[in-house]
Amino acid sequence: MTNNENYKNPVIDIADYRSDRYEINLEMGNGHMECILCGKEIKHSSKHHQIVAGEGNELGLIHKDEWDYARSKENTDGGFMGAWDIGSHCVKKLKDIPNIKNYIRKPLKERI
Ligand SMILES: [Zn+2]
Repeated sequence: MTNNENYKNPVIDIADYRSDRYEINLEMGNGHMECILCGKEIKHSSKHHQIVAGEGNELGLIHKDEWDYARSKENTDGGFMGAWDIGSHCVKKLKDIPNIKNYIRKPLKERI
């Protein structure tokens, strides 16, 4: 977790949670929708979540409250990485990180 000048909330680095088989799984996939942690294809779109990353690190998670800012022209983070998909199985691996729920959400169209 790092404090930085680009965002009010800390950016949470989840690199420690990436699977050792990430690269292998990526190569086996079809390049369509792959989980950012394990590299496996996400087959059912209703079972995935999204994260938004910055600071040049695709595993550096930005707080949900700042997603709109992060995507805006006002964002001063030159390393903004945009949105990524994460499978529901991998979301569970992150559950012990404080406040992680504020950094992950289902795609907008699937929320009630
Ligand atoms: Zn995964």
